[in-house]
Order: sequence, then C-alpha cells, then structure tokens
Amino acid sequence: LVTVQVSAAGQTGFGYTYATSAAADMIRSMLAPRLRETDALDIPSLWLEMRNAIRNNGETGVAMMAVAAVDNALWDLKAKLLNVPLATLWGRARPKVEIYGSGGFTSYSPEQMQTQLGGWAADGIRHVKMKVGRHPADDAERVRFARRVIGRDVSLMVDANGGYSRKQALAMAETFAQDGVIWFEEPVHHQDHQGLRLIRDRAPAGMEISAGEYGYHITDFRRLLEDGAVDVLQADATRCGTTGFLEVAALCEAYRIPLSSHCAPYLHVPLGCAATQFRHIEYFHDHVRIEQRFMDGAAPPRQGCLKPDLSRPGNGLDLKMRDLEPYRIA
Ligand SMILES: [Mg+2]
Repeated sequence: LVTVQVSAAGQTGFGYTYATSAAADMIRSMLAPRLRETDALDIPSLWLEMRNAIRNNGETGVAMMAVAAVDNALWDLKAKLLNVPLATLWGRARPKVEIYGSGGFTSYSPEQMQTQLGGWAADGIRHVKMKVGRHPADDAERVRFARRVIGRDVSLMVDANGGYSRKQALAMAETFAQDGVIWFEEPVHHQDHQGLRLIRDRAPAGMEISAGEYGYHITDFRRLLEDGAVDVLQADATRCGTTGFLEVAALCEAYRIPLSSHCAPYLHVPLGCAATQFRHIEYFHDHVRIEQRFMDGAAPPRQGCLKPDLSRPGNGLDLKMRDLEPYRIA
C-alpha cells in the first residue's frame, strides 16, 4: 500500500495505490516537486504535468501507479476544498453500488473455500469470484465444489489471470458453464486481444469475458474495446488514476459496454456511483482486510452493496496513521 497526502488551503487529500515502494520513491522525487505552488482545483493540468514528468520511465506500470496515487489524493483534496463528497461532486447515477466477493485463491483448502465463498453468500453478497488457471487439472472440481458451497442463487465468476492457452480456455469455458459460471476473466493473457476475442465469440451463451485490470492509460482500454476483446471492461483507479477511470467510464458509455472496478474496493465507491455503465465493485479479500482495518470510513457492505457516506467530504476515507505506523517500510 502506497499512500499519498496532498495539502492545499488547510485541507489534506488522501489517495493510494497498491504497488511496490518504488512508486513512493517516484512520487517523492519526480511528482511532488512539480505540484508545489500549483492550483489544487486544476486537476487536468496537474494530470498532464505528472504524465510529462514520468514520460521517460514509461506512462505505464509503476510510474503510472505513482501518478494514480497522487491523482486519487488530488480528487479527495478538491472535494474537501469544495466541502462536498466525491459522490456529490461527480453526481450519482445510482445511490449505492453492488459488490462481488473476490477470493477463492488456488492455494485455499476446501474448508477455506467453504468459509470464504459460503460466508459471502450467507452475508447476502450475490456474486462471488474464484481463481482458476494455476493447476488446470484441478479447476473443474474446484469450480464444482464452489457451486455446491454457494448454492444456486449466487452468480459464480472465475478469473484465470491469463493462465490458459486459447483452446484450453475454450474447453474450460464449456466445463465451467455446466456449473453456471457467468464470468470468465482473463481466460488467456490480457495482451492477447485476438485470443480474448476468440473466447468471447465462442464461449457458451451467458458467459461474459472480461479484462482491463492492467490498463494504465485510456489507450489501453480503447484497444480492448476496439478489438472486441471483452463483454465487460475492468479498470482500476489505483493504476489508471481517478482521472483515468472517469475517462474509461465515458469510453464504456460510448461503446455501451459495462464497467466493473478491479481491487481497492473502497476507492471505487463514488466512482461506481458516478459511472453510467457501472456494473459492480470487486470486493477483493486482501484489500478488504487492509482497507477495513486501516481506513476510517470503510464500512462493511450491506445487502451486497457499498454506499458513499454523504456526511464525509472527499472520498470518505481517512488513513489511521497510528495503526499503520508499525508496518511502514519506506
Ligand atoms: Mg483479475
């Protein structure tokens, strides 16, 4: 977790990303000096300035995650300076956002799978996602087990993290469909757009293909859509920034493709309310643990939804610095 605090006119904005500590070094050495004595309300200008600053390191990966963390903090700051929640600043297409439980790691024992996936289902979460693709020979049985654990009424989603070959993924899609899997994420490598398109066109009816978590710039997302690679586009504001996420939301509207957020669940609550084509938030187990423990305002979901707290200006999240201090590494 790389956190950013940025101040102007007596207010402090908070943003973050999940990245290597190298991102923190880049923020300190390359981005922070460029933001001094600028207008905190002119985020487009600061966005361009930061992207220029990292250009020679590549407008992607760690460098872009550094920009994203600062951009996320700048949006929190702007809303605080205007004394409104981000959900009000952008306006809402919906008052709350549906989540899906995301975990089901390939390292889990059957008991762990049962506790986690079954627990989400019991808590009223209507969709759950599990990992596949690491040990393909075990996947059919693991998926069948997950279906038994969650019952018939909860949607089952799988994420292969690009672990299959094209034809293997096609065969797995047929197998997973027998257990009612309705979402197949990164069946093949995320850069293999033609492979994604192949699976998308030939997967059983009712099974959506998704990708987008490795998008850093709007161009990455545009290419996925131009290539017809996905039924649902994913985006992650800890990688493409809040500014980038808002751009992607407009792109999804233009293509009439649903948008689902990746990881960092609480950061995406106001974005999910604002984006017209928004589907759901990934309630990712590892990040849920971090955010609920170390961020004030990260309230548990209710009836499978997260809702912005309209009494809190900004993104509604405050870092519990004292609790985090023992874990500081940079
Ligand atoms: Mg994924």
